[in-house]
Amino acid sequence: TLGTAWALDWIARATKVVSENRIELIELDRAIGDGDHGENMDRGFTAVAAKLAGAEPASPGEVLKTVATTLMSTVGGAAGPLYGTAFLRAAKGADGDLDAAGVATMLEAALEGIRARGKADTGEKTMVDAWTPAAVAAREAAEAGAGAVQAIRAAADAAVEGSEATIPMIATKGRASYLGERSAGHRDPGAQSSALLLVAAAEAAE
Ligand code: ADP
Ligand code: MG
Ligand code: MG
Repeated sequence: TLGTAWALDWIARATKVVSENRIELIELDRAIGDGDHGENMDRGFTAVAAKLAGAEPASPGEVLKTVATTLMSTVGGAAGPLYGTAFLRAAKGADGDLDAAGVATMLEAALEGIRARGKADTGEKTMVDAWTPAAVAAREAAEAGAGAVQAIRAAADAAVEGSEATIPMIATKGRASYLGERSAGHRDPGAQSSALLLVAAAEAAE
């Protein structure tokens, strides 16, 4: 199962990978948005790391709740409230260690939060296109009898594919939708940051 130590390691790895990919995320957002996604995410996770540095959370849920409130107040733009809601919903069912079904439930909750907040469906070239296959893959893994580590790995792999799959899409939500057909041929920055976060979650579990 995945517990508090995993959640803390996830977020430490997420902070690192967001920082390392800051320029890439800026460039993706520059192509179809306003170029601030890397800056927004790096600022947010730097604040999260500072917040968690002195904390002694007692459950994965407590870690994720701190992430949620901090991202909400520091990321800004479209992604701040979306990730804030995602982590807040993810935190809710995570008051104990997570087995594979718990991982699936956590990812489904995060996805529902994003969908409730952003009103986007799959195929609209947003982070929903990374989180949806991730949640589905985790649930399938859990139902096939996989463990928590396999479930989060399956989710991460699906999120990476989901991010890739946004490249040919035409955006119909968010800033990229202003470009219409010209948004095709570019990867969605929020789908890519989502994939990075879920890969960090899998690496922390392995
Ligand atoms: P902003 O567009 O306000 O500058 P960011 O650049 O930080 O915000 O984040 C942009 C990302 O947010 C997009 O790449 C997309 O994945 C996501 N996004 C934008 N609008 C929505 C929405 N309605 N639903 C889901 N995700 C969205
Ligand atoms: Mg932007
Ligand atoms: Mg912006």
